[in-house]
Amino acid sequence: TYVVTDACIRCKYMDCVEVCPVDCFYEGDNMLVINPSECIDCGVCEPECPAEAILPDTESGLEKWLELNATFSAQWPNI
Ligand code: SF4
Repeated sequence: TYVVTDACIRCKYMDCVEVCPVDCFYEGDNMLVINPSECIDCGVCEPECPAEAILPDTESGLEKWLELNATFSAQWPNI
């Protein structure tokens, strides 16, 4: 799965949302998140993010953000 990280906070360009083929972005108060159980790992969103906030979860140190994306996407509305 891909993960939205803190570079997204108060950014919300939304370019990533438009390209996602499975609509797995969710909008929260301060940032967007990706639902890891819906993301198909296509990678299309990563280069669309002007803030470089979207990373594959294969990168190290993203456990906290993966957990946050999973938790918040379950609570917030799909966009
Ligand atoms: Fe959507 Fe693909 Fe990005 Fe996953 S990697 S959030 S499926 S655009």
